[in-house]
Amino acid sequence: MLLILTHDVDWSRKGPSVEHVLTRLNRFELSHRYRFFSLRENIYNGIQDIMEAEQRQGMKSTFFFRVLYDDNTTAELYSDVISELRRGGWEIGLHANNGTDLGDIQAEKKVLEKLYANEIYSLRVHYLRIEPEIIPRLSTIGVKFDSSICISKAKPSLESTGCLLYNEVVELPISVMDTYMFTYWGIKPEEVYERLIETLKLFNDLGVEIATILWHTNSIKMCGGREYLKLVEEIWRLEWITPIKVMDLAIYMNRGVSCKKVL
Ligand SMILES: [Zn+2]
Repeated sequence: MLLILTHDVDWSRKGPSVEHVLTRLNRFELSHRYRFFSLRENIYNGIQDIMEAEQRQGMKSTFFFRVLYDDNTTAELYSDVISELRRGGWEIGLHANNGTDLGDIQAEKKVLEKLYANEIYSLRVHYLRIEPEIIPRLSTIGVKFDSSICISKAKPSLESTGCLLYNEVVELPISVMDTYMFTYWGIKPEEVYERLIETLKLFNDLGVEIATILWHTNSIKMCGGREYLKLVEEIWRLEWITPIKVMDLAIYMNRGVSCKKVL
């Protein structure tokens, strides 16, 4: 089973405010609370942790960056990180703020491409708020892959696996999302890893060829969120999984992995 690894960078480089962290204090381990309040560390920035873990295992994923963040800072503040990711062979995708206007998506894509110094092929709309009619038109602005839909959020579902073809655009429904596991799936932090592996194994046993996982960079330092790093550490022991970044799917499609044609 191909496991497509993706991360949304929902928060600006500056990270959350004190008020924001105070109202969610129980989500953070003691050591991270200390790092936030005493050292003013941005505990929502898990990018480095993910890079180090993935690098150790020789695997690469896709990071979706927003162009404009809620505190009005831009992706520019991440430009050094974006360059480092590019040099290391990770993929940068666009985490579009507006999924209802093709022109807006294109404009953001161009801004991010400048920082990336590369073309962008992959898209995910923030909050998954994409206008479905936009999906088949994404190829006109150079987007080959979209991953802005999750068909079932209440529990793991076969419907949210595999890939769909809308004209030339490959749609990758999100099969597993960290925040859905914590909230809608009702999984306790200490059970996250076990349940994650169980779910992936079930998909594989049912013949799923492609599953897409979304793990937010800001949840890495939260209770339960670190479990992604454990998945990475253990990945080669799960010999039924092949971990890839989004754009690498093209290689496997050339080798015969097929997507369900919708349009
Ligand atoms: Zn988002």
